[in-house]
Amino acid sequence: MCGFNPYEIREDFPALRRTLHGRRLVYLDSAATSLKPVCVIEAIASFYREYCGNVARGVHTLSQEVTRLYEDAREEVARFIGADGDEVVFTYGATDSLNLVAYSWGLRNLREGDEVVLTVMEHHSNVLPWQELASLKGVRLRYVGITGDGRLDYAELEEAISERTRVVAITHMSNVLGTINDVRRVARAAHSVGAIVVVDGAQSVPHMKVDVRVLEADFLAFSGHKMLGPMGIGVLWCRRDVMEEMAPHRVGGGAIVDVEPNAAVYAPPPRRFEAGTPNVEGAVGLMEAVRYLARVGMESVEEHERELTRYAMKLFEEELGDAVEIYGPRDVNARGGILSFNLRGLDHDVVGMALDSCGIAVRTGMHCAHILHKRLGLRGTVRASFYLYNVREDVEALVDACSEIAQSGRT
Ligand code: PMP
Repeated sequence: MCGFNPYEIREDFPALRRTLHGRRLVYLDSAATSLKPVCVIEAIASFYREYCGNVARGVHTLSQEVTRLYEDAREEVARFIGADGDEVVFTYGATDSLNLVAYSWGLRNLREGDEVVLTVMEHHSNVLPWQELASLKGVRLRYVGITGDGRLDYAELEEAISERTRVVAITHMSNVLGTINDVRRVARAAHSVGAIVVVDGAQSVPHMKVDVRVLEADFLAFSGHKMLGPMGIGVLWCRRDVMEEMAPHRVGGGAIVDVEPNAAVYAPPPRRFEAGTPNVEGAVGLMEAVRYLARVGMESVEEHERELTRYAMKLFEEELGDAVEIYGPRDVNARGGILSFNLRGLDHDVVGMALDSCGIAVRTGMHCAHILHKRLGLRGTVRASFYLYNVREDVEALVDACSEIAQSGRT
C-alpha cells in the first residue's frame, strides 16, 4: 500500500487534462520525460516575474537575490540525494554530466592500456563519452553482459574488473529492462582495484530513494526533466576529494578566481565546472520538483510504480499470454517502473502508432540502447514507463489496447 493517492496527485498535472486523438491521455512515457506539476511551472514563471539579474555577477541586490536562489536550489537538490551542496554541479542533463566526467576526469587521468568497464545495458549517454576517450587515449572498453533474466551478470563483472580497470561506468536502472543494479556491490569491486565508479542515475533518482552515501560511488549523473523538473537542467554529484582534483572541461566566465594573459586560477568546485551563465530557471524548477517528490516520499513513489508494474505484468500474462514478450527480470522487486515488450509478429513502431491512436503514449525503438537490443537480437521494443501520476486504469487501457492490436494483427 503506497502512502499517497495518485488520483489526487493527478490534479497537480495540467497535461493530464488534455486529450490525445479525442481520447483520455494515458501517459506512459515518463522514462523519456515526465509531466510537470503546477508548482514547478509556477516556480519558473515567478522566477521570471520577480527576479532579474545574473548569478554571482554583481554587488547589487537583484544579482545577490538570484545567486541566493540558485544556491538554495543546489542545497535542496543535494539534500534530496543525501549529499552536501558543494558536491553538486548543475549541468544541462545526465548526458552533459557524463560528458563532464569523461572529459574532466577521464581525459587527464586515463592512459593507453587502461580499461573502462561498462555494461551492455548502458544508455548511449554512458557509452559514447567513453568511446570518444577510447579513441583519443587508447583506452580499452570492456562490456559486461546480462543473465537470461535481464539482470547484470555480477560474476562476469567481477571477472572483468582487474588492475587495469580505471573506471566502472554503470546505470543504476536500465531504461529498457527496468533492472535495478546493485551499485554498492559494483563500487566495492571497483574500489578494490582503485577504479572510480560513475553511476548513470537518470532512471533511478526520479523513481526511488537514492542516497549517495549508500551507493558508495564516485559520480552520480541525472536529469531534471525526468523527475518533474524542466528540461535543460541536470546534476552531477561528485565525491568531494575526487572533484577537487579535477580541472574544468568547459571554461569561461564565472568559473575563475583570477586570470592572467597566459594562465587562470579556477574557482573551487562546484562553480569551477559551471562556466557561463547557468540555467537558473532550470535550477529553480528542479528545486520545486524535488520538494514535491520529497513531500510525496520516494519510498512511496517506488512502491506505487512497483505495484503498477506488477499489475501490468499480471494483466499482460492473463490477457495476452504468449502473444506478448516482456523483457527484464520476472521478479518485480528487481526492477523499477519500466516495462518493455513486443507483441509477437508485430513491429514495435506499428504497435506504438496503434497505441497512440488509442490515446496511449509509449516509446518505441531502441531507446538509445543499441548495444542491449543487438545483444537481445531485437530491432526494437515498445516501452511503457510509469510514474506517481499513473493509475491502474492506465495499465488496463494499455493491456486492453495491446490485446486488440494483437488480435487485429493476427487476423
Ligand atoms: N541515461 C539513461 C539511463 C536515460 O534513460 C537517459 C534518457 N533517456 C539518459 C541517460 C540521458 O538523459 P538526458 O537526455 O536527459 O541527458
